[in-house]
This record gives sequence, C-alpha cells and structure tokens, in this order.
Amino acid sequence: MSVIQRAYKTELDLNNEQITACRMHAGAARWAYSWGLARKQEAYRQTGRMPSAIDLHRELNALKKTDLPWMCEVSKCAPQEALRNLDTAFAHFFRRAALKQQGKLHGKVGYPTFKNSKRGLGSLRLTGSIVVFPDAIQLPRLGRLQLKERGYLQTSAKVLSATVIERAGRWYVSVLVEQEHHVPTNTGPVVGVDLGVKSLATLSDGTVEPNPRHLRSSLGKLKRLQHAVSHKQKGSGNRKKAVGSLATLHCRVANQRANTLHRFTSRLAKTKAVVVIEDLNVAGMLKNHHLAQAIGDVGLAEFRRQLTYKAAWYGCHLVVVSRWEPTSNACYECGWVNEQLTLADRTFYCQACGLALDRDLNAAINLAKLAGSSSESRNACGEESAGQGLAALVKLSSLKQEPNTDYASA
Ligand SMILES: [Zn+2]
Repeated sequence: MSVIQRAYKTELDLNNEQITACRMHAGAARWAYSWGLARKQEAYRQTGRMPSAIDLHRELNALKKTDLPWMCEVSKCAPQEALRNLDTAFAHFFRRAALKQQGKLHGKVGYPTFKNSKRGLGSLRLTGSIVVFPDAIQLPRLGRLQLKERGYLQTSAKVLSATVIERAGRWYVSVLVEQEHHVPTNTGPVVGVDLGVKSLATLSDGTVEPNPRHLRSSLGKLKRLQHAVSHKQKGSGNRKKAVGSLATLHCRVANQRANTLHRFTSRLAKTKAVVVIEDLNVAGMLKNHHLAQAIGDVGLAEFRRQLTYKAAWYGCHLVVVSRWEPTSNACYECGWVNEQLTLADRTFYCQACGLALDRDLNAAINLAKLAGSSSESRNACGEESAGQGLAALVKLSSLKQEPNTDYASA
C-alpha cells in the first residue's frame, strides 16, 4: 500500500454569478503571474537575482492595500498560486536551458511569457478548506459549485488543491487528492509497442491500434473557422464569436485525442506486465513538416507521459529502449539489418532468412525481445532524451523523394 497523488478533472455547472467570480479569480491569477514576471525581469536586470514567489507575494500584499483594491475581493490563493506557477515555469526554463547547452535538447527552452485574456482565461488554483460533495465542490471564496457529473469526485479523499480551468467557454475543476493506492500484481504478457503514424501503435502480439486522426478529420472545419476569424474586423463582435467557435473545435479535438490516448495507455498498463517502447525523438520528428501534423495528432510525448505514471499504478514495468537500437530495420528472427529501409517500405523482407512481415510488427517484436536487456524509463515525458538524430522510423530522404507515401497523403 502506498500513498499517491492523483488529479480528478470534471466539468462545473455554474450560474452567471459564479462565472463572474471565477473570471475575477482567473483574472487575478493572470495579473499576478504577469506582474510577477515583470518584477522578476526588472530585479534581474538591476541585481542579477530574481525574487522568489514568497518575496513577490509579500510585495503584492502590501500593494493590494493601496493600489489594488479589487484584489481584496478574490481569494488570496489565486495570486499566490499563480506566483508559485511562475517559479515553476522558471525552474523548467533553467533546467531546459542547461540541457540545451549540453546539446541534449532540440526543442524550445520555454522562457515564461506574459498572460492575457486573449489567450484564454486560464486557471486558478485554490488551497485550504475544500470540501467535496457527491454533486458539488465547496471552494474558498467561490462557495459551493455544482458539478455536471455526479459521484465522480470521491468525497472521502484528502484534497490537496483544486484548480478551476476555463476552456472554450466551459469551466472545469481539477482536484488533486492524496489517496492510498494498492499496486496490483500484474501477470500479463510482455509486449513491445511500436508507435507509428499510420496506425497509432502496433503491438508485438499482432494487434494494431488504429489512429483515429481526430485532427485530420476536423482539419477542413478548422481551416474554415480560421479563415472566418481572419476575415472579421479586429475587435468586432463577429470576430469574437468566430474566435469562440474556433476555440470550441480545438477543445473538442484535444478532448478526443486525450480520450483515445487515455484508453489505450490504461489498457496497456492494466493488462501487460512489461511494456517496451522506443525512446523516440519527438521534438526532432516534429521538425519534419510532412510528419509534424500526423505526429502532433497522435501525441507521442503525451503517450509516454501517461504510460509512465499508469505503469507505476498498475504494476506494469515500462522499459524504454534507446533509439539507436536497431528495431525497425533488423530482422527479428535472425538479426539481419536492412540499412536501406525507408519509411515507404511497409513490409520488411529479410534477405538472410527470407522472412517477410509488416515492418511495424517486426519492430514491435524486436522491442519485446529487448525487454530484459535495457534500462528503465528515466524520465516522464522524454524531453530530456532529445538527441542528435532521428529515430529509425523517420528517414527524411524517403519522404522527400516520395511525398505521396501514406504519411504525407493519408
Ligand atoms: Zn532474417
């Protein structure tokens, strides 16, 4: 039995008065974040050091009495937690900047940016006395807020914090709880998972997880809505409306994507004792425009993140194999390596033993065979592992010569 932290997110059913209160809190959080960022930048220029969230909160409290009377109407948690988020954002920035210097990171370093309501109302985190009812949640200052789904939040769990989030006009609450967790004994099989683009994944036992391509199917509609936004006058009511519909569609696609991934990763972690995946260079793959959209749609980094924590919950052992290991281009039977294998080759033909099978299945079986020999998962989202080259999966040359492969046209 161990104690784990887990978040439960569910939609709120708010009345107009509550929406106004939530908007005010979110506004205070955004304001504090941006103010804190400006203060940090200013202090850094002058002294070379940056004030911490605690320093800034003290300064803000003094300011509140004289300059910011509206801030007194919101819970003190909203600005305080926003300043904490800012500290976290800087910690991630410094960590990633160090990795970049060592050449271990190819993606963005992510310097914190200012927040404004045009980019969404954002969120607010509250701590303190939070009470969960079967159909409502009681939050400091905001009071009792109705939930749309009854019974999802557990009333008995110890609540650490609650975050209220706005997305495309809807309001959600994510409740972080501490709960006892019993890790079950997982007696499932060992499975290699080859993540693809054409299909979401191929398993070494032969099952293929289809790629639902939510973004792709909504792409036409997205383009139309984007066009509608760009052709409306700035600041007009019609533009605002168009922006709203676009945000709703984006939100819908994101929800569908999250749902597909959650189902798949849960099933893997619950039913397999060992899951072997390849340490793909997602950031590197996204630079290739032919593949970028499809890979972004699949959410490979998110797949890895979910699988990492779910594996720990369900007693599944996650093994991450180095991308330098020949998996796609080696024969699983005899080990012969096809140096010329490209993305366009859908079938793997072994010239040594005559084996012929689906290339993704061959890769998945190779991964499963590496279950015992490789190191364990080292990080949650794989960003640190962005290395020099692309995975064997992606051979740029083949795509440039044949733009009409499945990847580019499907
Ligand atoms: Zn062979």
